[in-house]
Amino acid sequence: MALSFEAARTMILESVIPLPPEAVSLLDVVGMVIAEDIRAPWDMPLWNNSAMDGFAVRAEDCVAGQTLTVDGYIPAGGSASGITVKPGGAVKIMTGAPAPVGCDAIVPIEETVENNGKLILTGQVRPGDHLRIRGEDVSKGELVIAAGTALRPAEINMLASFGYRTAPVFRRPKVAILSTGDELVEPGGDIGTGQIFNSNDYSIAAAVKQLGGEPVLLGIARDDRESLTEKIAAGLQEDVLITTAGVSMGDHDLVCDVLEALQVERRFWKVDIKPGRPTAFGLKNGKPVFSLPGNPVSTLVTFEALVRPALLKMMGHRRVLRPLYRGILQEEIRKPAGKTLFLRVEVTEQNGTYLVRPCGDQRTGILSTMLRAGGLALLPQAATSLPAGSAVDLMLLGEEALMREAEDVQTGRTACP
Ligand code: AMP
Ligand code: MG
Repeated sequence: MALSFEAARTMILESVIPLPPEAVSLLDVVGMVIAEDIRAPWDMPLWNNSAMDGFAVRAEDCVAGQTLTVDGYIPAGGSASGITVKPGGAVKIMTGAPAPVGCDAIVPIEETVENNGKLILTGQVRPGDHLRIRGEDVSKGELVIAAGTALRPAEINMLASFGYRTAPVFRRPKVAILSTGDELVEPGGDIGTGQIFNSNDYSIAAAVKQLGGEPVLLGIARDDRESLTEKIAAGLQEDVLITTAGVSMGDHDLVCDVLEALQVERRFWKVDIKPGRPTAFGLKNGKPVFSLPGNPVSTLVTFEALVRPALLKMMGHRRVLRPLYRGILQEEIRKPAGKTLFLRVEVTEQNGTYLVRPCGDQRTGILSTMLRAGGLALLPQAATSLPAGSAVDLMLLGEEALMREAEDVQTGRTACP
């Protein structure tokens, strides 16, 4: 019996756990999830310093028309030790250099005229101006990055500021990808009658990479037990195995048989979704095995709906589901009862509301419709007809898709005729 979309996704998510953390170079951690709380090992900044190129002064000396005597210079990277700002004095200082004893403000160069060691001030100076005080950014012991945070360039800067060269992050899953079918030829070769290029490997590898996983391409298995057994056994060595095609009712659809022979414990086969009904999921020694249908559209949609959340959970993400937005259907949609329909839609934004309409032929063989889709509208399993104006759940397929539409609107091109 087929499972509902939600039941299938829940079963998958309950079957996977985050991979063990490891230390990864800061150069490679963007998008990865930190596994431990990071507390500041010291005050940041560690010493009072200048926020401007200018002069360290005593604010009380800085009345209009007053000249100050410049003695001393502290460059960035220099030391303030032994240097004091005396009454009526000023010390030239560069941005980031330690502030000398005695000063309580920095006057930017732009607000001074310097002449023969004498300094004339052109602006007002208040205590504290342009000084960075020890610990004003972060104090020692403060939680700066909580475990479970996905690292962005800002978090990576904070880690590097505290001298980290690596960060403890949940490991990237190695995701084995296997295409199956006698008709498949690797891109770059020649194709004869009845043959097509293996394109699924590339879209799935791209989707895996996009969310931070590491694709491991196993190539093509032929529609026979021997070839499938050899390749699937290799794939089971990785953290995750994704196969495409060979899971429907065809004479040569042997993927499920071979998985069973290799003791992959089947959790389900068939989900009440369209496209992607024949999807199967199982576990081998706790490792997830996804068998996706072969039509490139079905492969992409089932990856999006069922595989992506699992990979994100394995990488330690707390939010593994794409946010669902509210989209307003611009035309009536009829659909079969009993299946959640993933409708490929063009998305436009109007006064903060997403308007959605089918962006082309919705049959699973039509890949070009997927290229035009800014999102997928999820139409409920029970519904058979949704009138124009209905509110539907909308998954945006990346901000880029929306931006592209915005450009299309600006240039007068329409994404969909
Ligand atoms: P199947 O599930 O094996 O019946 O395959 C369904 C459809 O997907 C067929 O039209 C296949 O030719 C096509 N297909 C299967 N695998 C791939 C692949 N790796 N790349 C592109 N198309 C594929
Ligand atoms: Mg096939």
